[in-house]
Amino acid sequence: MTYLNQPDYVRYLCNCGSLKSISKIYFCRHCLMIRCGYCVCQEVDSHYCPNCMENLPSSEVRLKKNKCSNCFDCPCCFQTLSTRAGLAPVRAAAPTEGEENKDVKATPKKVYYLFCSLCRWSSRDAGIPDQSVATGGWPEQENPHVMRINALIDYHKVLASIEKQQCERKKIHPKRSFMPAQTMYSFTSALVRKRIGRPMKPPLQSQSSAQPVPSVASEEVDELPNDIFTESVDITKITTLEQRLQHPEVQAEKINELRPQHRQFLVKRSQRCRVCEHNVSKSDLCPQSTKFKILLAAFYHIPEVKIVTCEPLRPGKSSELLLKFCNPTQHQTQITILPLDTLLSTSLTEEKDIKQEDTQTNESSNLLPSTVRQAPVTEDPKAIKIVPNADLILPHSSLILPPRDDAAEYDDTNDNHNFQDDPKLVVWRKGNKAVIRLHVIPHDTNKDNEDSIIVGFVMQHGYVNTIAALEHKSPQKVDVKVKLYLTVGQLVGET
Ligand SMILES: [Zn+2]
Ligand SMILES: [Zn+2]
Ligand SMILES: [Zn+2]
Ligand SMILES: [Zn+2]
Repeated sequence: MTYLNQPDYVRYLCNCGSLKSISKIYFCRHCLMIRCGYCVCQEVDSHYCPNCMENLPSSEVRLKKNKCSNCFDCPCCFQTLSTRAGLAPVRAAAPTEGEENKDVKATPKKVYYLFCSLCRWSSRDAGIPDQSVATGGWPEQENPHVMRINALIDYHKVLASIEKQQCERKKIHPKRSFMPAQTMYSFTSALVRKRIGRPMKPPLQSQSSAQPVPSVASEEVDELPNDIFTESVDITKITTLEQRLQHPEVQAEKINELRPQHRQFLVKRSQRCRVCEHNVSKSDLCPQSTKFKILLAAFYHIPEVKIVTCEPLRPGKSSELLLKFCNPTQHQTQITILPLDTLLSTSLTEEKDIKQEDTQTNESSNLLPSTVRQAPVTEDPKAIKIVPNADLILPHSSLILPPRDDAAEYDDTNDNHNFQDDPKLVVWRKGNKAVIRLHVIPHDTNKDNEDSIIVGFVMQHGYVNTIAALEHKSPQKVDVKVKLYLTVGQLVGET
């Protein structure tokens, strides 16, 4: 799988116009379209602490400011701190006899402190008193700007409620003439005021009363201390920029002023297709689980293309290009390679059909109420900047790939599928994979530039859509067309 992190030699064209490797795209089974990261809405499903795996509802997370109350990060190296138990130094209170002294030592008080096992920072070094309980109780560092922040938050709450009122008014306004009088009582007070002819409360006034004093930019800064140029600097005692910015509200300058930081929560996100609003990826809500409830990664639905080898490329000369195709689905598929200028129209008409069906049977349970959902924004496709600079000689026959069979991966004998392969096209075949031979002729015009040689084609593959089967219809068989761009290599000198 490491090759998935390598440079993208084979790129798939998303409908928005961006080019991505197969590991970075989704395949929406409802639209039958590739969807890249720009074509999906991101939604936060759950918040959890990566250390103690506590999973909290979002309202509580907001109260806790996205931080876990039990876990701490080291302020020096940002690793998780561990709680260590120690014994409190017992003050020998008036030791007169040896035996008594022993009794006092036999019941010392257990105390706890925080310790970083990576950089050995400890709460004792920072001068934070030890705690008598293992969980919590650590002194919270006050944000010096807490008053100002609270004032701003309150002010924005007021603004939000005014905006909400205005939105409601706009929504109700067009229907007003058709509304019977009795529904009037359900209106907001602002609306009622308007209806009975009393002047609206000027919203500006209420805003200005709550508006905090605006900040004023100032050029005056404190003078530097006199010894700044004479005192030698001990950088082991001064915090780094990274350590300061980890805690932006305080930004301690000295190492011993650093305080342990609450661990930030992580989120689990789900991705939703912007066009049909179905999920393309949804993970299991349990923080410990790495499974997905829905995962429509293109890797599991669209044949993967890999460049096996390419002969040295010379301008105007034909070079052999070997490509490996892999069918990831549970159904046999037929792959046809079409010229780059083929319209992707088949899939487009399919998309329209599906969309119409969706509007009728759509309101499935996995759709959130519209207020929670991010409003889908669809953009016009971008122009494709990439221009192929070589011709690809396309094969006349197509390639059939059997379904994926995980058991066959380990079976060396079961190789005989009796496909009537064109020996000129198919070089090798095993299980759901096959290598085909194509020819690349770089254009003569690239002689002098150092650009990589890029070829493009449209891959058409038969796709069995099992979504239809879920809706009590027979599985739908469609031809999906995907545009691919391959970077096959550099030109070699003419010899
Ligand atoms: Zn896209
Ligand atoms: Zn935690
Ligand atoms: Zn540390
Ligand atoms: Zn979709």
